[in-house]
Amino acid sequence: MKSYLTAKGVFHYVLPSSAPPDQHLIYFPYWRFKGMLFSCLPDRINERFVDVSHQAIGSMHFPFSVGFRSQALKLRFATSDISGRFLTPVLKFEEVVDQFIARFSRDIRAPILHQARIGEAVSIIYAPYYAADDGRLYDAVLNEPAPTTLSETLDLNAFAGGPAPLRIDFLATLCPHCGWDLEGRRDSLVLSCRNCHRAWKARGKRLAELKLAHLPRPPEANIRYLPFWRIAAEVSGVPLKSYADMVRAANLPKVCQPEWEKIGFRFWGPAFKVRPQFYLRLATSVTLSQPVEKLAPQLPPAAFATHPVNLPISEAVDTLKLNIASFLTPRERVVERLPQIEVTPRKYLLVYLPFEERHHEYVHTGMNLAIQKNQLQLAANL
Ligand SMILES: [Zn+2]
Repeated sequence: MKSYLTAKGVFHYVLPSSAPPDQHLIYFPYWRFKGMLFSCLPDRINERFVDVSHQAIGSMHFPFSVGFRSQALKLRFATSDISGRFLTPVLKFEEVVDQFIARFSRDIRAPILHQARIGEAVSIIYAPYYAADDGRLYDAVLNEPAPTTLSETLDLNAFAGGPAPLRIDFLATLCPHCGWDLEGRRDSLVLSCRNCHRAWKARGKRLAELKLAHLPRPPEANIRYLPFWRIAAEVSGVPLKSYADMVRAANLPKVCQPEWEKIGFRFWGPAFKVRPQFYLRLATSVTLSQPVEKLAPQLPPAAFATHPVNLPISEAVDTLKLNIASFLTPRERVVERLPQIEVTPRKYLLVYLPFEERHHEYVHTGMNLAIQKNQLQLAANL
C-alpha cells in the first residue's frame, strides 16, 4: 500500500546544519512565501515570480530573511528526529505578508490598482544557530560566528520554544469508494482512482471526493488532458452574469445572440503551475472562450495522459479580479472600475480540457490556444 505525505496546515522545513555534533542547536523561524505576485497597473498587469522569507520572530539579532539559502540549500522537513530547540513563531503570516509585498513592489513606478499573490502554500523555514563556548552566537549553516554576539540583549532562553513542531501524517491511499490503489504524483493535490474514475483530495487526515468533469474526445485522438478550475462567482461593479455580458465587457468583435444572455458566465483558470507571465494569459484565454461543450462528470478515460493538479482552488480564486482586469476593455475602464469590483466565488468544478499533443506544444484548436511543453516542464520547479 502506498502512502501519501500530508501535513496539517503549513509545512515546516529546516536548513541543513554543519555544526559540530555535540552542539545544542536552536532553530530560528522564518516565514517563506513562494509564488506569483500580480500587480494591476493602469496600463498593464505586472507579474513576477517571488521567493521571499521574513523573520517570524521580530529580532534585530538575526538576519531579516534567509536570503537565497531557501533556494540554494537542500531543505528537509522539520521532523521530530531532529534534535534542538525550535523557537516558536511570534508573528503571524498575515503580519509579515505586507512587508513581503512592499519589498517587491518598491520598483514599480505606477499606481497599483490591485494586487494578488498566488502560488504554493506558505511555509516556515528554520535556520540553525548555536551558542559556542566562547559566548558567541554561531550560524550553524556555515558553522561560522553570526554577525551578532550573545549579550544581555540577546538571551536565547528568553525565546519560547520546544522540540520540532511538525507531525507528519501518512494518509493511506486506497480509494474510499472501491478500495483500488489511488494514483497521484508527489506534487499532485488530487488522487485519482482508475477503477471507479473518482478523484479525491486530502482534507485533514481524510480523503474527500472532488467534483470533476472532462470534455470527451474520441479514444483515437492524441490528447493530453490539462486540468482547469471552472468557477462561478458573483461579480459586482461590472455586469458579468452571462456570456453576453462578458462579450460586452471585453468588447469582443462578436454580435451578441439573444441566447447568450442565458448562458451563465464562468471564470476559468489553470489548476496547474505555469510561469506567472503565462498563468494569467491562459486564464484569460480560456475564460474568454467559455468552453460550453457538454462535459462528462468523471475523470478522462485511462487511455489519455492527464496533467497533475498542483495549483489549489484557493489560489485560483485569488486571480478572478485580475482575470477581469486583463480583459476589461477599454483600459480606461479598468482604472475607473477596478476599485469597485468585488468577486465572490460561489461554486467550482475541476474540468479536464483536451489538448492535442504536437511536437513542442499542446494545442486546443477550438480555443486557438497553444501551451509550450517546456513551459509545463519549467513550471514543475515553481
Ligand atoms: Zn475507486
